[in-house]
Amino acid sequence: MSKQIQCPSCHRVFDYDVVASYMKVCPKCGYHHRLTPAERISSIADGNSFAEFPFTYAFPNPIGLEGYQEKISQSRDKANLEEAVITGECTIDGRPCVVAVMSFDFMGGSMGSVVGEKIAEAMIEGALRHEPVIIFTASGGARMQEGIFSLMQMAKTSAAAALLEKSLTPLFIVLTHPTTGGVTASFAMLGDVNLAEKGALIGFAGPRVIEGTIGEKLPAGFQSAEFQLEKGFIDAIVAREDMKKTLSFLIRVHMGEHSNE
Ligand SMILES: [Zn+2]
Repeated sequence: MSKQIQCPSCHRVFDYDVVASYMKVCPKCGYHHRLTPAERISSIADGNSFAEFPFTYAFPNPIGLEGYQEKISQSRDKANLEEAVITGECTIDGRPCVVAVMSFDFMGGSMGSVVGEKIAEAMIEGALRHEPVIIFTASGGARMQEGIFSLMQMAKTSAAAALLEKSLTPLFIVLTHPTTGGVTASFAMLGDVNLAEKGALIGFAGPRVIEGTIGEKLPAGFQSAEFQLEKGFIDAIVAREDMKKTLSFLIRVHMGEHSNE
């Protein structure tokens, strides 16, 4: 019997293969299950065009926090990733681009020095090559294990986004569930176009924290992608099955028709 998966939204049980064949979107209610970075990349990149940028970063423990190294090791085993973001290059409908995909499974997608550096380097690479940069975000925010150094990543990634703009190279952000904290407060809102997946939680502080702070009930759907679209924070909600053709369209519009020849 094949593996079964229960939808956390409509509670129906499906064969895993069925859900996988819908790009992990629930065939009944449209709930978006989490994709791994590898699944995400294969959902938008041409064939085997993706090549990961080499991982050349030493483990940083800038505030000497006890247990941080063990936590990183556990996360590496659990998520099967070196860090909370994968960066590399690929083509989309024949057009080259630089891509970064965050993983919420690696310490909640938190942004420490290495994540910030990788994202900044990806953007700088895009600016140097004049190739569009696409970033899929998923994050609980800054990595508290690195103290103030994690907050500095906000300035660094924002400066890299400004460099992209200066070189007239487009940055496309796709906000996936959930994108919060220092990632939302930096590069994740700096795209030339900011897209989101259906139902993604997008905000700075989470709704529970805000409710606890202001002592008031928040409106239904607060900080959902749909709410943020209505309020003008994002440009569009794109179905997972349409993501590749949407990105392809945006690349064509921004880079010109003949950028792949
Ligand atoms: Zn469902």
